[in-house]
Amino acid sequence: MAEPKLIVVSVRLPVRLEGGGSDWHVAASPGGLATALRAVAERRSFTWVGWPGIDVPYQHQPAATEALKEYGVPVFLDHDVYQGFYEQFSNRLIWPLFHNTSGRLKFDRAAWYQFTDVNEQFAAAVRRVARPGDTIWVHDYQLALLPQMLRASKLECPIGFFLHIPFPSHETYRTLPAREEILHGMLGADLIGFHTYEYAQQFRSSCLRVLGLESERETIALPGHLAHLGVHPIGVDPEEIAAFSQLPEVRDQFEGLRSRFRTKKVILGVDRLDYTKGIPEKLLAFEEFLGRNPQWQTKVVLVQVASPSRMGVLEYRELKREVDELVGRINGRYGTFNHTPIVYINQTIPRSHLSALYRIADIAFVTPLRDGMNLVALEYVAARGDQPGILVLSEFAGAASCLAGSRLVNPHNISLMADVLAESLQDTDAAEAEFQQMREFVHSNTSEVWADRFLQQLANAHESHRSGACRLQAAADFTRHVPQPRPLFILDYGGTLQPHVPKVSEAEPDLRVYRVLRDLASLASVYVISARSPDVLESWFGDLPIGLVCEDGAAVKQPGTDWPDMPQIDLTELHTLVLPVLQDFVRHTPGSKLERRRVSLVWHYRATDPKLAALRAKDLYAQLESTLRGLNFTVLAGARFVEVRPTDITKSSVVEQLVQAHDETDFVFCAGNDKVDEGMFEVVMRSQRDTTITCFVGGKDTVGQYFVESPAELVSELEGLVSLWRSSMATAPA
Ligand code: UDP
Repeated sequence: MAEPKLIVVSVRLPVRLEGGGSDWHVAASPGGLATALRAVAERRSFTWVGWPGIDVPYQHQPAATEALKEYGVPVFLDHDVYQGFYEQFSNRLIWPLFHNTSGRLKFDRAAWYQFTDVNEQFAAAVRRVARPGDTIWVHDYQLALLPQMLRASKLECPIGFFLHIPFPSHETYRTLPAREEILHGMLGADLIGFHTYEYAQQFRSSCLRVLGLESERETIALPGHLAHLGVHPIGVDPEEIAAFSQLPEVRDQFEGLRSRFRTKKVILGVDRLDYTKGIPEKLLAFEEFLGRNPQWQTKVVLVQVASPSRMGVLEYRELKREVDELVGRINGRYGTFNHTPIVYINQTIPRSHLSALYRIADIAFVTPLRDGMNLVALEYVAARGDQPGILVLSEFAGAASCLAGSRLVNPHNISLMADVLAESLQDTDAAEAEFQQMREFVHSNTSEVWADRFLQQLANAHESHRSGACRLQAAADFTRHVPQPRPLFILDYGGTLQPHVPKVSEAEPDLRVYRVLRDLASLASVYVISARSPDVLESWFGDLPIGLVCEDGAAVKQPGTDWPDMPQIDLTELHTLVLPVLQDFVRHTPGSKLERRRVSLVWHYRATDPKLAALRAKDLYAQLESTLRGLNFTVLAGARFVEVRPTDITKSSVVEQLVQAHDETDFVFCAGNDKVDEGMFEVVMRSQRDTTITCFVGGKDTVGQYFVESPAELVSELEGLVSLWRSSMATAPA
């Protein structure tokens, strides 16, 4: 069998296809990601899936695929689809929004469909190469839907996703038109990696606000799946960068620059010409610095590399015009015959050559308004070897959370940046201690370490998924014949057989649920437990030969009989001690409400601001526990509700009675969907019958033995069981 491989998926392959017809060749185009993964690729079997950077007509795709064989698996994209997917949806919507510049938000429904379509095409390409046991690592926002698409394919592979850009605050995120789909897409991964803790927490917050998903600090539980969150700041390869400086042409360039700027201090900016990089702000700060410090006007130069980027997009062309004008204005105002304050290079400089610039720069001036990490900041530190340098860094770059020792600035505060430049130029020699801190980070958190740590956490996360409950496959897993004596089925209703709905009036069972209960009742003893009153249950199920349990345990109606009288219980303490507390919580928690049932009181907070609700529910639970200590009442904390009821009238106590009353059966099946239902599972599992099946609806994180993801899945498993048992009866010898 082939060795399990790592499948890296990114929008671009690390090579570029050139040529045409049947004559294709491949040019290297290694970005930061290819550099970061080089060491990993040398150690294990490896495949890259991505777009080859050029439009290839359909009839030439086999030849192009052949040319790329050694480098990766191409995903060919139609020009128009690529435009919508990449230029529009990725770069004009997600990019500005995730970088907090949502004034530039442009939603185009056709582009959204193209975005979805391209993600589907990538999913299809991955499916073709993935084998069970392979690891799939998806990169960046353009492929945010891919993890979920791959999960749905049940590939049996760990799926990782890394977001290379920031994740915005939930206030910003929730303005995204496809906000639910993008979150669900990312949540399909076993591990979602971010550069900073802040981005990971903002992602959690959006999952809560947009999807209503509660989470732990490092995990988000979904039905049947646990998504882990990881903080993995990317690194650079200091050895590669050191090697650049030894190249003869780079040495020549360094010597040339050194003699050219011999008598000057050099401030360096290296950015893609992108509006998130804060280039105009940087130029304005430099202008203000020159204006306020005339003694420096001919003694300092700002070398600004602005490599052209996304010039097909209007906002980028406008930015270029703005930067050109600013550079012209500042050079016009402060330039002399012998001195140009800003050396502006509007070209892409090879990475190797940047190392010469990094080495002559006394100060690196890195001022993004928002940036996932900013590799330039790390490269500057790595390139300088033993020679310290000063890094003036925007606090809005991810690198700011890693590079203690940098001088942090708010790029929106132009005057402050001018001050920091002035201070930094005064003490370029005193920077050794701060530089040492940065050097340590860059050398210990290399790109190789970054990839290894991510992949290790991904393997652990995937492994942890294997534990926990097994998926219920009733028809396949259990006896093929109807157990004799009659099996016992105890099924919770809301959220278990039928999904929860906001309106009580819409909670009635649909036809499928009704039918499966009817069919099951012909083979087994069936009980449905619900929070509803006897009247409601009667109107839904009154004509079925099944048992009904009202108000989560208040009374049991046996099949084919009438409802018994409600129990006479002393509820004085419930009304004198608990009711005022709950009323107080309703008053102080907008969106929450009180439900008075015959034997219990319930505080519901489904419609409350989720963060406030979580705090209040915790407080309420603690307060009630202490109020009721020593009394015969129980506090139950369920999914978005807190309930107080008599200790001996719970679902678990009813299940206990039912199991005892059916002591002849060796087969007990119990399903529920809430943490409070797990008490029922414990009773069933303790019952020492030959077969106990306890099934949690909504994920494998349960004390139950089995799980399904949704009520629909449970119903379909029950249907399967009924049909299997019926066919076994039909074929049984007379
Ligand atoms: N870069 C380059 N030539 C240039 C300008 C930039 O090779 O003319 C490289 C730079 O060395 C760095 C990357 O492009 O590796 C920019 O990464 P960063 O994280 O700073 O910004 P991004 O462009 O990814 O937003």
